[in-house]
Amino acid sequence: MTRGERLRRAANWVNLSTALGLGIAAVTRTPVRRGPHGLYVGTGYRPPLPVAGAFTVGNVVLVRGRAPGTQPLTAALSPDLIKHEAAHATQYAALLGLPFLPAYGLAAAWSLLRTGDPASRNVFERRAGLAIGGYRERPVRPLRARRR
Ligand SMILES: [Zn+2]
Repeated sequence: MTRGERLRRAANWVNLSTALGLGIAAVTRTPVRRGPHGLYVGTGYRPPLPVAGAFTVGNVVLVRGRAPGTQPLTAALSPDLIKHEAAHATQYAALLGLPFLPAYGLAAAWSLLRTGDPASRNVFERRAGLAIGGYRERPVRPLRARRR
């Protein structure tokens, strides 16, 4: 673990976002293991929301799957996806933890309005890397309907 990764892990413990992530894992019965870069990885997350193959809360990465905890981490998370989710963990630390959630919600709403997709113009997804996060960028559409 690098110095920055240790700092991020400590910050996300102090700001309670990692505790929230572990709480979500516990409530959803998603077993969590230690992963790379100071992250915790839960595999076999099953609830329908959020609509994502993987998502991150603090330093906890939850990966969707059918069988809780049975997948090897390397099968559940590609190096690119780990890099993408680790960037979100850094974003939590930068926004002092839980304020990340409403900020992300606003960014996703903006992206949805501009592109019809919650990631394409979402500053957090763009900075984490759209392609490595499994997103395909959609073009921006006009805010108002054109006059005839
Ligand atoms: Zn993402």
